[in-house]
Parts: sequence; C-alpha cells; structure tokens
Amino acid sequence: MKSILTILNEKKAIELKKEVDSDRKNRSSYTKTKFLDAKLEKGKLNLYFESINNVHGSGRKHKQIIRFEEKLKKEDITKEKLKDLIKNQNIKLHCDCEDFLYAGFKYIGTIQKYSIEKETIKPEIRNPELKGSVCKHLNSVLSKLHIYIDKIIEKIK
Ligand SMILES: [Zn+2]
Repeated sequence: MKSILTILNEKKAIELKKEVDSDRKNRSSYTKTKFLDAKLEKGKLNLYFESINNVHGSGRKHKQIIRFEEKLKKEDITKEKLKDLIKNQNIKLHCDCEDFLYAGFKYIGTIQKYSIEKETIKPEIRNPELKGSVCKHLNSVLSKLHIYIDKIIEKIK
C-alpha cells in the first residue's frame, strides 16, 4: 500500500469524497447543511457553510469552509465555471468540529495540502494509520456543492 505521506499533491473534492470512511459516510447522511455565504478573498473563492447532525451527533452546529485554489475574478464566477471548479479544481477546506481535529483529518490535510489551517501533531491514538480524509460535515458539504451554484453566483454579484 502506498504511504499517505508520499502523496503530496493537492486534492480535488472528488478525491477527498472517495477517501471518506464508510462510518462517516453513513453518519453524514443525517447531516443537515446550510449554505451561508460566498466571498472572493485574495482572488480565491471561499464558501461558508453550517452543518448540524441531530441523529448521530451532539446536535451542535459546526462551520465549514471550502476554498477553491484557482485565482478568480468576480466576472469569472459563472454557472459553467462553478461546475468546472467543483468537478476539477483543487480545494482546501476546514471544519471547526472536534472530529476534524482529533481524528487527524486536519493533520492528514496539512500533509496532503487540503487543510486551510495547519496541524503538525499526528493523531497517534485516534487515527495512527491516518485513514479517511474529512469529517461527516465536510462529506455532506462536498456532496451538495452543486446544489448551491445559483446561490453562490447571487452572493458574488
Ligand atoms: Zn466536521
């Protein structure tokens, strides 16, 4: 098996989704996700979400950020461009839940360059084999990005 540490390329949403473990995939089907905002910051498109999981979770709200790495101008943000970004472009992301930090996704994401915030402490106890890629909230957000295309365009206008 290829060591995760040797894979140093940036990540696409589609690759991250494939690497989510089945347990989190199941739990994320109970996660309700709300689109909050879209902003162009330093030429990069940032999407802000809030998710809540009532069935298999604390019922607490958590915030997610999805950032597309391609440099963009306001006028670049069209339906076609967003479809392409969601499908083909490198992203970085963040969730403020405990799982994202303690299960080691922030650490894995730092190595694989998809975490917005850096984490250098390896999850020796909770996830020593460095399995998976994101928490249930981010899995849910990544599954629904295409639904929000019109809303994103509205916010960027
Ligand atoms: Zn999360």
